[in-house]
Amino acid sequence: MQTFDSDRYSRQVRFAPLGPAGQARLAAGRAVIVGCGALGSVVAVSLVRAGVGHVRLIDRDLPELSNLPRQVLFDEADVKAGLPKTVAAQRHLEAINSGATIEAIVADLRALNCADLLSDADVIVDGTDNFEARFLINDFSCRTGVPWVYGGAIGGEGRVMTVLPGRTACLRCLVPDPPAPGVLPTCDTAGILGPTAMVVGAVESVEAMKVLVGATDLVGNRLFVCDLWDGQWRSIDLSVLSQEGCATCRGGDYPWLEGRVAGRTAVLCGRDAVQVAASGMDGVDLSALAIRLAAVGSVTANRWLLRVEVEPGILLSVFADGRAIVAGTREEAKARAIVARYLGA
Ligand SMILES: [Zn+2]
Repeated sequence: MQTFDSDRYSRQVRFAPLGPAGQARLAAGRAVIVGCGALGSVVAVSLVRAGVGHVRLIDRDLPELSNLPRQVLFDEADVKAGLPKTVAAQRHLEAINSGATIEAIVADLRALNCADLLSDADVIVDGTDNFEARFLINDFSCRTGVPWVYGGAIGGEGRVMTVLPGRTACLRCLVPDPPAPGVLPTCDTAGILGPTAMVVGAVESVEAMKVLVGATDLVGNRLFVCDLWDGQWRSIDLSVLSQEGCATCRGGDYPWLEGRVAGRTAVLCGRDAVQVAASGMDGVDLSALAIRLAAVGSVTANRWLLRVEVEPGILLSVFADGRAIVAGTREEAKARAIVARYLGA
């Protein structure tokens, strides 16, 4: 059995439903947090402080000043440093708990890398900001049996649902037809209050802890909904949905995992930026690219990415995995044109 510092976790261990056995299971547990923004920050801090032994963070983006009101893992120095979110987060989390193993993955979760990034998880926690990623996680979870915790926050409203594949309703049971991008309000259009993300992240964290310690009779088949501004808290029973199931959890249909539903560009929530997935550019040689782009403007580079201002106000970031983020525009066509012009992809 995994050991833990009993003094450090004494208050948590004293919580009877957890106890020493639960704490040992947390220490042996592996959580994967997809998205290291507002929700992912709170979940990562909570789980690492709680003594979860292994935490993998997956995120595709960099911290920006406009993230700081709600993304509690980052500070102004991180924004200045231009490090990827997961790398900056890893440094903070290792300082919080040196006993935890923190893995920082700079990548966009896609159908192709799901198996590599998610397979060894005991629980997957949603820190994403879009339905494409959530349905991909849901497909993966239903196919492999790895439980996951869905969370969403917008304005003052939050929702959380834990999916135990084969036992509870899944995301597609709840949302049969995922909304097209731009249809639902996002934190860009409706805004978000930092505390909303903190509440949702906190609820997700407890759900993940329950899954990790095996208290699975206490999770699932419920949708937690809150409106912090109106002071409403509800838990909606989903057992009727789970009895019927859906094409994914009952029928074995995995459209996102099989790559039948995917976009090449994505407007990034909370940012004036578009991500372009560069096809056929796996493993970009960043130093060679830095030399080539030096003619365009001043290039800053680190192990994970390079950045260059290609036009006044338009900042191009290229990641080692071949993705590019064009900041300073929300027009996907313009972003694609910039990537084609400077990267030829
Ligand atoms: Zn389902």
